[in-house]
Amino acid sequence: MRPWFLLGILLSLIFCMGMPQYAAAEEPVDYGAKLLAVTFDDGPGADTTRLLDALKANNAHVTFFVLGKLAENRPEIVKRAYSEGHQIASHSWNHAKLTSLSTEALQNDLNCTAGVIRNITGQKDVYLRPPYGSYNDTVRAYAGGPIIFWSVDTLDWKYRNVETVKQTILDQAEDGGIILLHDIHPTSVDGFIASLGELKARGYELVTVSELFRRRGVVVENGSVYISAPNRGINLPPLNYDGKEYDESKLDEHWAYEAICFVRKKGLLEGTSETEFSPDKYMRRGMFVTVLARLSGEELPAKAAGFSDIDDNAYYASSVAWAVQHKIVNGEYDAQFGPNEFITREQLCVMLDRYAAYQEEQAKIKKEGVTSFTDEEEISPWARESVTLMVQSNVVNGTTDGAFLPQNYATRAEVSAVLQNYCEQMEHPSLWKQFIFWLFGE
Ligand SMILES: [Zn+2]
Repeated sequence: MRPWFLLGILLSLIFCMGMPQYAAAEEPVDYGAKLLAVTFDDGPGADTTRLLDALKANNAHVTFFVLGKLAENRPEIVKRAYSEGHQIASHSWNHAKLTSLSTEALQNDLNCTAGVIRNITGQKDVYLRPPYGSYNDTVRAYAGGPIIFWSVDTLDWKYRNVETVKQTILDQAEDGGIILLHDIHPTSVDGFIASLGELKARGYELVTVSELFRRRGVVVENGSVYISAPNRGINLPPLNYDGKEYDESKLDEHWAYEAICFVRKKGLLEGTSETEFSPDKYMRRGMFVTVLARLSGEELPAKAAGFSDIDDNAYYASSVAWAVQHKIVNGEYDAQFGPNEFITREQLCVMLDRYAAYQEEQAKIKKEGVTSFTDEEEISPWARESVTLMVQSNVVNGTTDGAFLPQNYATRAEVSAVLQNYCEQMEHPSLWKQFIFWLFGE
């Protein structure tokens, strides 16, 4: 019996060493976009239509800070701009210095302007740029949207020279910048149009202000002042990149295909429809908690958790309740859970770490992966320990160039890979047991 036992250990060591490695499974795409938000104040004017034509021809999007009074007179231009993907924002009703208005007049001014913009376009959020950049606490209180300044003042109104405008734009354009122009001056419109080719050649994507902030992971607040949105490690793909355009017939060529098959087979994650898996769509927090609950195989509580933003009938309600019960999610009465928000990579690490703790599986995790990242300081303090554990154990991987991108949203493909890695980690001991069983029988 004894030699057999030793042979068993030897064989199983070889067997484990030869286990397939899944480390390469997760490769977050680097969307590496250079974003620029060009803004036009004081219009719409006589040259705005011409500007719209040029923008359309160059597939560029900008933000118009319109005067309410002019927008009301030229609704068709505003409507067209909005329908062509540009953002319409408020520059007050008639260019008043907002800090000199009475509170009532200020409120009136901003409400009327926002009202006209909403009526014409149906756009929900109305950002504000106060004329002369003049604001105080009262303006902030009644802004009704974020207050948008600029990182590049072209002084186009002063120079009124096409070449100067073009050169200023090209000299000062930088990733995440907001450029101030006025579409009531033909020289500004022409100078901007003249810069488009070179901006494109330098790899800039021209986006609206709201798109700039969204893609840089900045959640804007009403009354807060913003001047730019540099890349701080979050660089999300454009809005229409939501997986819808993914060619599902090529799913077997996706980098995460093996992991996708794994999670489907295990019943952890289903497709987004009968025929689609949407691997590149982001995963929502409610969905991730549901997946963890499925992974546990446990019976879920009937009663939903006490979050104010969780509907008792939502598909994730009992999973969230289960997660709160087992301290995978911190539950506070009246708190918000944000079930429809996308899960960030660091949040994913924290939940998975807590899940492992609950399952008493932390001890099984082998730690041999890397422990430091180039964007280390982007990791939130409360997530640091979990991120380290998940990365060290090769459950969650960083990018090939040594970053972790903690604030990036996790895609369904990434989550699939993480789940497969996690399960492989946890199944090693049972494979060992299976082997022993196979070798020696009962
Ligand atoms: Zn102005």
